[in-house]
Amino acid sequence: MSETRIPFRAEVSRLLEIVVHSLYSEKEIFLRELISNASDACDKLRYEALTQPELIDDDSGFRIDIALDKKARTLTVSDNGLGMTRDEMVENLGTIARSGTGAFLDRLAESVAAGSEAKKDDASRGLSLIGQFGVGFYAAFMVAQMVEVKSRKAGTDETWCWRSDGKGEFAVEEEDNRAARGTDVIVYLRQGEDEFLDVDRARTIIGKYSDHIAIPIHLDGEDKPANRASALWMRSKAEATPDQYKEFYHHVAHAFDEAALTIHWKAEGRLEYAGLLFVPGAKPYDLFDPQRRHGVKLYVRRVFITDHAEGLVPSWLRFLRGVVDSEDLPLNVSREMLQNNPMISHIRRGVTRKVLGELGKLMADEKAYAAFWGNFGAVMKEGLYEDADNREELLKLLRCASSAESAFGALVSLDAYVGRMKEGQEAIYYICGESAEKLSRSPHLEGFRAKGVEVLLLTDTVDDFWPAAVGTYDGKSFKSITRASAELDKIRGAAGEGDKAADKKDEESKVAAGDMASLVALVKLTLGEEVKDVRVSARLTESPVCLAADEGDLDIHLERFLKQHNQVRVPIKRILEMNSKHPLIARLAERAKAKGASETLQDVVWLLLDQARLADGEAPPDTAAFARRLGEALLKVV
Ligand code: ADP
Ligand code: MG
Repeated sequence: MSETRIPFRAEVSRLLEIVVHSLYSEKEIFLRELISNASDACDKLRYEALTQPELIDDDSGFRIDIALDKKARTLTVSDNGLGMTRDEMVENLGTIARSGTGAFLDRLAESVAAGSEAKKDDASRGLSLIGQFGVGFYAAFMVAQMVEVKSRKAGTDETWCWRSDGKGEFAVEEEDNRAARGTDVIVYLRQGEDEFLDVDRARTIIGKYSDHIAIPIHLDGEDKPANRASALWMRSKAEATPDQYKEFYHHVAHAFDEAALTIHWKAEGRLEYAGLLFVPGAKPYDLFDPQRRHGVKLYVRRVFITDHAEGLVPSWLRFLRGVVDSEDLPLNVSREMLQNNPMISHIRRGVTRKVLGELGKLMADEKAYAAFWGNFGAVMKEGLYEDADNREELLKLLRCASSAESAFGALVSLDAYVGRMKEGQEAIYYICGESAEKLSRSPHLEGFRAKGVEVLLLTDTVDDFWPAAVGTYDGKSFKSITRASAELDKIRGAAGEGDKAADKKDEESKVAAGDMASLVALVKLTLGEEVKDVRVSARLTESPVCLAADEGDLDIHLERFLKQHNQVRVPIKRILEMNSKHPLIARLAERAKAKGASETLQDVVWLLLDQARLADGEAPPDTAAFARRLGEALLKVV
């Protein structure tokens, strides 16, 4: 029969190039990947057979067989799972059907390059990304000079063979019938890879990586399976070892890091289900995909149902990986019927409670918790915004960067913040921006710092949204310090701190209230419609001016975010605040008193407005005018 030659898609070729040419120390994982695929294929057929039992009439005992042929130097992984049609083979074994493939390959190539020069560790970390990305099949080319896949899809009677040496193309052709449904993956080992023909070596590999696979793996025709073949999540905790949890995590999550948390429990009560969930130790690459899909597989009485059952896990816990296995859902539940199913909602509430409880316990280990929060805090905060039912618990789990000197660089909890609040302070103050580092230099912070009042430095996109949605914690409202209403006057600073220093400065350069009022009026007149209002500031101690948002207006950082996403067209007018204790403002007040609104004075006022914008990281809207005024001002000093 004639074969068709088809080139690999570009991304597969790149991947194979990397796989084949890297010196990966753990080549044995190719077997884990092939077994994992065989097990997936059995799971898929078991699901299909729920509605089409005739598909498994001939043979309902799922199994995986591994045959070692020393003479032909082949290792064959066979399964009686779903199988593939010709088109499915071309599609599944010739492309990588995932978003972000290019970016992933760049990362892979980078870390492999780094590893070949230096540490082997880095190389294996790089290659472990292969599994994370779910391109496990191609791992066979680490040991193979050629791979053949012979498959007959359940319910059909054609067998097709896929064949490739991993160099640019593959061939497909029709074969004499494979006796039964399923797939054989035949690995023709390269010179020097004979260790994988050894039964004991294969047994060790299966024990190490595949014991948790719930389908029996028969090695070289042996009757007794080489794995335990019982679902790990159904075992009691006492029956499972840390290594088995680890391998299972790698299998379900396509991940190769150490899980930060392993949560294994059985819920009994109105509904019965088992859960084995993992909080990854590293960020999955698709964490911020717009689809926000979670990674918890749904099983019903050991039968795999679906990967991303909607509603099983809240989207702000989408970093979770693992399995939930229900005893109560009907087996014939279709994937579509799962949406809005009350049992699923019930399980979701149970899963959420369990996970939040375990995260609560993790807080005792500050370092581990900070690492967790660094990876997934931004995702958890989405829950603050959209899940009112769990808000209280989420607020306990929340961690933020802080302006407090004692806590700088560390993450603080709201309880710690509240514990440090000053006498007379009623609100929890925060400021949003790009980085804690930049924010810590914002003029808005000056007055707060001078009084020793702590400000939370929030740098995730979602931070622009949740404080308003949450409203209060422990009876204290959240207040952005870029708002004009963030009043400092009522707060008593800690004794010996800012207050005294500020008082001293007051005496030095205090402008008479009347003069300041005239200056404010003059600035208002000059800037006209450009600002919403001009006021004397209570918050500035170092800078001459800053811009604040009026109560009820969009916060400054949020406006910028929305502008970037084309959601705001007309700029929102801000309030210009002036620091009457600043020598520049004092001089201006004097000048205004003596000479009124001269042209020079007006130029300085416009420059001050642009200075306030720049301090917020905002470009002056009329950069040419700004440059001209700055030039003229400089002329006067040099
Ligand atoms: P993943 O398992 O993450 O999907 P792989 O590279 O391991 O990625 O496999 C690619 C695809 O090839 C699988 O998704 C599946 O559709 C198909 N496949 C691989 N092995 C088998 C098999 N033994 N039986 C049926 N389909 C298979
Ligand atoms: Mg796979």
